[in-house]
Amino acid sequence: MNSRKATSAVVLGGGLAGLFATRVLAAEYDKVTLVDRDHVTGPNLLRRGLPQGHHLHGLLSRGQQITEEHFPGITDQMVADGSAIGDAANDVRWIINGKRLVQTDSGMVCLTASRPFFESHIRDRVLALPNVVLSEQTDISRLEVGDDGKQVRGVWVFPEGKHETLLPADLVVDASGRGSRAAVWLEDLGYGRVPEEKHKIGMGYATRYYRIPDAAFEGNISVNTVASAGVPRGCICQKIDGGRAIVTAYGILGDHPPTDPEGYLDFIKSLAAPDIYEILQQSEPLNDPVAYKFPTNLRRRYELMSDFPAGFLVTGDAVASFNPSYAQGMTVAALDSIVLRDHVAGGGPVDPLAYFRDLATKAIDGCWDMAVSADLAFPGVEGERTAETLETQEFIAKTQDAASRDAEVSRAFQRVIGLADHYTVLHQPHLEAKILAS
Ligand SMILES: Cc1cc2nc3c(=O)[nH]c(=O)nc-3n(C[C@H](O)[C@H](O)[C@H](O)COP(=O)(O)OP(=O)(O)OC[C@H]3O[C@@H](n4cnc5c(N)ncnc54)[C@H](O)[C@@H]3O)c2cc1C
Repeated sequence: MNSRKATSAVVLGGGLAGLFATRVLAAEYDKVTLVDRDHVTGPNLLRRGLPQGHHLHGLLSRGQQITEEHFPGITDQMVADGSAIGDAANDVRWIINGKRLVQTDSGMVCLTASRPFFESHIRDRVLALPNVVLSEQTDISRLEVGDDGKQVRGVWVFPEGKHETLLPADLVVDASGRGSRAAVWLEDLGYGRVPEEKHKIGMGYATRYYRIPDAAFEGNISVNTVASAGVPRGCICQKIDGGRAIVTAYGILGDHPPTDPEGYLDFIKSLAAPDIYEILQQSEPLNDPVAYKFPTNLRRRYELMSDFPAGFLVTGDAVASFNPSYAQGMTVAALDSIVLRDHVAGGGPVDPLAYFRDLATKAIDGCWDMAVSADLAFPGVEGERTAETLETQEFIAKTQDAASRDAEVSRAFQRVIGLADHYTVLHQPHLEAKILAS
């Protein structure tokens, strides 16, 4: 007779980080309960807990690869259901510092769709797992901790219209996003305050949906005019599901796109290149622009804590959320799930501090450094510009310039920003020579 005790895990938050986490935990635990306060399976895909869901969400190539690894066949399913697909460097027109990067085959898949579309496809696959239970319309209340405060044993929740209920668990993973209360819970338990890193960027988005004739895209699935120090305003115009296009304009340090239709178009007209403004001349808007403000990059450095309770981990935006215009958050959530998978493999107890150290070095550091260094290229962004930062910025500026003339540099650069390759590939001697000659 098998006398093994059934194991269970609870994931707090049903956004992308929570869904990826649930997927990997379901391979190790007998039962995984996914908690979200929203009616996530309801008809309103733009639910209250996903205010960013209205705005453009680019999925980097590495994120697409991990998504396909977790859910084989999902890429084809998304394309069948209306996502656009192309090569991330050949079918996307990138304009940086007013110059078009050379379009060239990169071997990286680019899927373009709305955030609710990505999320609902991934959620359908997660909820189809036989040992996953969804507890929606359920608010997270507090952790259940053993008497000595060293072991988390579950979580108390408020299912809508019901009393506070305990969900016992061997492991609780907090994926409740940037507003996560994990840091407060830990402090209340006597673990001290988690060190935080913050960078003010004063980013503002405004997004509008359109019907755009195919011909206006000139064979591309996305046109990306990137903000730079010279013109710190950017915009992305992308084909998405439902035969629609999404246009997200953005500006930093308080220079935000207006939400009145005329001001919105004027903002887009003022970009470093006319491409998107010209496309919009042939297009039919489907709504008025909607704004979103993102004041600061925020990283909670759990890996620097000296002690941490067993049975509890944190993932996704709850650990690090940064400048959305670099389109890294969903891919970092996917990378986080690979680290989680490694640490829960085998089903034994998880060492939380070892998990957080790996999360920092294997999932977050590279993206965080790239984002913070790129933000510091804008003169008004506060922060220390070390000699190394300035050197990196100069090298990247030269790389972007060379990528506007040389297909090989363009391919290598785009594979780095798609997180398909490590940054160091740009320093291969033959590429570096081309870049430095720029
Ligand atoms: C404007 C904007 C644009 C972005 N653009 C991109 C992009 O182009 N590409 C990209 O990769 N990333 C982008 N991101 C980042 C991306 O949205 C996130 O990094 C990614 O989705 C991971 O989020 P998450 O699952 O950790 O958190 P969230 O998406 O915030 O999910 C948290 C979940 O927890 C639930 N929850 C919260 N509190 C409670 C509670 N008390 N009780 C119960 N449930 C609760 C919420 O309902 C929600 O479902 C963007 C972000 C913003 C703000």
